[in-house]
Amino acid sequence: MTTTIIGFPRIGEKRELKFATEHYWKKQLNQDELLQKAHEIKLAHWQAQQEAGIDLIPVGDFSFFDNFLDVANDLNIVSDRYRQLGLSKLDEYFSQARGYQDGDQTVKALPMKKWFNTNYHYIVSEFTPETHVQFNGQRLLDEIREARAAGINSIKAVFIGPYTLLKLARFVDGAKPTDFITDLVQAYQALLANLQELGVDYLQVDEPALTFDVSQQDQELFDQLYDQILAQPTTVKVILQTYFGDVRDVYQDLIQKPFAGIGLDFVEGQENWQLIEQYGFPTDKALFAGVVNGKNVWRNHYQTILQQLHQLPAEVSVVLNTSSSLLHVPYTVANENQLDQDVAQHLAFAIEKLHELSELAAIVAGREGSEKYLAENQRLFADVKHPVNVVVQKRVEALRDDDYTRLPDRKTRIALQNEELDLPLFPTTTIGSFPQTADVRANRRQFKHHEISQEEYDQFNEDKIARIIRKQEELGLDVLVHGEYERNDMVEYFGEKLGGFVFTQNGWVQSYGSRAVKPPIIWGDVSRTAPITVAASVYANGLTDKLVKGMLTGPVTIFNWSFPREDIERKEVVTQIALALRDEVLDLEKHEIKIIQIDEPALRENLPLRKSDWFSQYLDWAVPAFRLVHSGVAPTTQIHTHMCYSEFSDILQAIDDLDADVISFEASRADFTLIDDLVDHQFQTQVGPGVYDIHSPRVPSQNEIQGLIEQVIEKIPAENVWINPDCGLKTRSEEESFASLENMIAAIQAIREDV
Ligand code: GLN
Ligand code: ZN
Repeated sequence: MTTTIIGFPRIGEKRELKFATEHYWKKQLNQDELLQKAHEIKLAHWQAQQEAGIDLIPVGDFSFFDNFLDVANDLNIVSDRYRQLGLSKLDEYFSQARGYQDGDQTVKALPMKKWFNTNYHYIVSEFTPETHVQFNGQRLLDEIREARAAGINSIKAVFIGPYTLLKLARFVDGAKPTDFITDLVQAYQALLANLQELGVDYLQVDEPALTFDVSQQDQELFDQLYDQILAQPTTVKVILQTYFGDVRDVYQDLIQKPFAGIGLDFVEGQENWQLIEQYGFPTDKALFAGVVNGKNVWRNHYQTILQQLHQLPAEVSVVLNTSSSLLHVPYTVANENQLDQDVAQHLAFAIEKLHELSELAAIVAGREGSEKYLAENQRLFADVKHPVNVVVQKRVEALRDDDYTRLPDRKTRIALQNEELDLPLFPTTTIGSFPQTADVRANRRQFKHHEISQEEYDQFNEDKIARIIRKQEELGLDVLVHGEYERNDMVEYFGEKLGGFVFTQNGWVQSYGSRAVKPPIIWGDVSRTAPITVAASVYANGLTDKLVKGMLTGPVTIFNWSFPREDIERKEVVTQIALALRDEVLDLEKHEIKIIQIDEPALRENLPLRKSDWFSQYLDWAVPAFRLVHSGVAPTTQIHTHMCYSEFSDILQAIDDLDADVISFEASRADFTLIDDLVDHQFQTQVGPGVYDIHSPRVPSQNEIQGLIEQVIEKIPAENVWINPDCGLKTRSEEESFASLENMIAAIQAIREDV
């Protein structure tokens, strides 16, 4: 049985690519040196696959920044403002990904968006009426030659397909997807012709957009593209590859098209099994069966996979595959020497998943000695010892509906809160973090390297808190924050303090470009072993007569940005996290913190790809988890939440159902388009639409902010409006932040005088 993978992580075993590109950007490496480094990284990755026994090795999945951008560039989809810079091909590419600035010449980067339901972000290329699509993909062809030269012979070229390209790109100035069908067909035919000339046998076209809801119109678009592309005879075997879900809307159509193979995800797309059962799978194609989970960090259960494969009709020719690209998992467990063997033996990162594929293939083929793989895998699973916390489990079991309901109703408690908190009209606040300046990071680093004591570390942070409390008082903010100086990252920080999490040393996963994150792993029952944020909030609260807002990351975000255990239901894991945070909230309340913010920036991003699953497979547990965190507080305690986006017009009811008292969100970049939806929906939660964009170093003027606030209060009842920036300030400089806040406060004071 043949094995392959959809793609491999590109950043390198020790993030070599990150460091090389960042050095290149800082002009510490020249282009040749960067290319040489990239060559070494690719080589290492190809060899690792070859050594692990992978038969069909993907080529073209490497990227200096993002594969979507690579493919757009290979298809000549590059806007004039980047071309006009007159840069080298590589720098023109980076200018699209990162923006460009040289003296007065500045061009903004293309937008970045989350890639399906992952934490990877792709660069959103744009089609304009001037876009002239044509294949000029030297990048891919060179990479194939490079692989060949390195002795990699069994090559599968990979390229994002035209349908996904059109679904995910942006169309501006009146351009629309159907304008580009003819040119795209020609371009993909040219790609095939080039591959044929090079003697490449396989092309994997990635069409993950087929796992979204596919409308009639989408279906027609897909048909028009592929019926024409595939009409040209070619010796290249075209594999249509999907991932991140099932293809229920198009399956019957797919199996009739002359693809040589179809790649289905059997992990996130469980429904794909039913589709095969119901409609069969043709004998003229190979089924690229995504059975090895490409997105989690756990070992795969061989017996389950074998049983599933066994249920396929005998005549189906199967290629063993990962469920998605391995881009979404760290490189290798071998570099984790601080993890307990008890935990480590259950982990499979990219390298280990390659071996799993080979072992599975050996078992299926009945190769000599393969029984031991199965036996070892069974032993492993018989021996999982997730740390059990009986107290937590009992608490989860004992939960009743009441525990998810905050009383009294919103109207009653808002009246009580107004009395208790005595805030002015249009209260002002910030989202939580203040700039993480170099000294803040140095303090953390020194502490981590044991260069300073716990006392010194804490003292530094307390001084920072005291300073920022004074500053906020000076600025005239109404609800103050402690500044989050103690947090490296809003999830890792909580993970480190909660029981049940483990941490890797090298478990980096690409987030975008040269940026990688190291998600914590949820390994056991989650519990709060000690207060987490209480000391900092209480300290800050003691320094001022103003209100200080407590600050937590919510259960859904902690869950979504970690690698969760899979031996129990997601709902169970998230409920455990929620209970731990509930204790923290009640503890803050006990310590006189009257306003508590529970951030959920990741709530929206994990909505299922299909709308029909939103409420039955996600919001049905995500919303209750949030409610569980805060439902125990007194009516006078005010609960805030924060979300870093403005697109929730389609889940307004769910957001109201979180039953928070106040929500702050991003709005300024989205031109306040959400405001009308809030009005139409009769949104109940008080709102703080961010009145300026913290993602940009620009300092907005008082006038500009005033204009935005006026737009808001024209539509939303005054007593429901809060004034704040649109996210935390941790990435900004203090100078920018203070100047912007000063203008924000001047703006609201002018408005208050007016009403
Ligand atoms: N409270 C966090 C902060 O201000 C929120 C961060 C976020 O929304 N991503 O940094
Ligand atoms: Zn935010």
